[in-house]
Amino acid sequence: MPTGRHMHSRWNLAMDAGLLTEERVRALVPEKIFRRGDRYCESGAVLELARRGEVLHALVAGSREEPYMVQVTTRGDRILARCDCPYVEGWGEWCKHVVAVLLAAARHRGPISVQPTVRELLAPVDRPALERIVALLVDRIPRSYHLVEELVERERRRSPPADQ
Ligand SMILES: [Zn+2]
Repeated sequence: MPTGRHMHSRWNLAMDAGLLTEERVRALVPEKIFRRGDRYCESGAVLELARRGEVLHALVAGSREEPYMVQVTTRGDRILARCDCPYVEGWGEWCKHVVAVLLAAARHRGPISVQPTVRELLAPVDRPALERIVALLVDRIPRSYHLVEELVERERRRSPPADQ
């Protein structure tokens, strides 16, 4: 049974309103990209399709060893999508991976599986465990160090230390 959270999600409302349909996807991308995405979708390249909060996440098997990561969300009646392949910069132009995921979602029957958001995952974890998690993440993805640095600085500017 879908949970209340599930039923009230923007995604389900969007799906109910016919925001994400095969015809709409076709209309929004060049025919060539649509055909490639369609082939990906039909060949079962979309490995995981799950919703976390208001964002649809999926992995797409492609030409490189590691699957491509696609995220899709909605803003009003617009569909926003991004992929970590070199073709796409930010929430911009759609690649065949994005099209494959959109088609997989549009063709999916029944509710799309729901996973916890990162906030929900981290909610029961204390500060030392959180530090270990971030340290491991940076160890695994070294380039994320600079992002963590930037985000810590942003948080510090937002909330001055209590002793001031
Ligand atoms: Zn892509």
